[in-house]
Amino acid sequence: MKPTVSDTSLFARLRFVLVETSRAGNIGSVARAMKTMGFSDLVLVRPRHADALRDEEALAFASGALDVLEGARVVDSMEAALAGCNFAAAVSARLREFSPPVLSPRQLATQLHSQPALHAALIFGNERFGLPNEVVAQANVLVNIPANPAYSSLNLAQAAQVCAYECRMAATDGAVGDPLIGFSGEAASVAQIEGMYQHLEQALVEIGFLDANNPKKLMPRLRRLFARTQLEVEEVNILRGVAAQMQKRCR
Ligand code: SAH
Repeated sequence: MKPTVSDTSLFARLRFVLVETSRAGNIGSVARAMKTMGFSDLVLVRPRHADALRDEEALAFASGALDVLEGARVVDSMEAALAGCNFAAAVSARLREFSPPVLSPRQLATQLHSQPALHAALIFGNERFGLPNEVVAQANVLVNIPANPAYSSLNLAQAAQVCAYECRMAATDGAVGDPLIGFSGEAASVAQIEGMYQHLEQALVEIGFLDANNPKKLMPRLRRLFARTQLEVEEVNILRGVAAQMQKRCR
């Protein structure tokens, strides 16, 4: 069974808000950045092109995330964009003298994940002008992506990607890949692995590779090698099969 997204999971509690975006291509790219990380709630505040969601460049850059684009809402005020949210995070390249507490995307993601009552909006500014001061002043936190101090302004969609990625990592506890894909067999028991070492040792003596009177560090080294691999039952059986065949050949 596929894991489902519960209402309290961060995937259902996070909105991406783009304020006065100039380039429709960036809107498409943000949709893609969101979908690749499992997010879908997109709101645009006064985009420069009224028809930005149907713009050719937006559609092309969204690629396989057309559903996020189609589901996006266009509004004309911050108030409308934040309806239903109880936490606002202004995402900004610029640190200001007077600003709410500053967090990195990782710190923000950790906080949002650990507080399931929060319905949060990540608010991104215009490509040239960033976010208006009033928007930053209303936010609970300012999210800044640590970057090269000499050139710290990321492309809008790339900034959205970094934030979306960190939120995904927090929401999935850093899980890599799909736990349902990939073969994984039953782990071998200590007794099975000990039996394999004994069998292997005997076989190595019988073929003359291991000198029983002067074994040196061969077995400890082989133990160290296999200890790094988390052996499975089937693999232990294969290695015992190899040992048995070695013995058979030299008897
Ligand atoms: N010249 C603008 C930068 C705009 S980049 C300025 O000085 O603010 C467009 C948007 O991408 C920004 O409004 C912000 O939301 C996001 N962004 C870009 N770089 C960022 C960074 N280092 N940290 C946080 N947000 C960033």
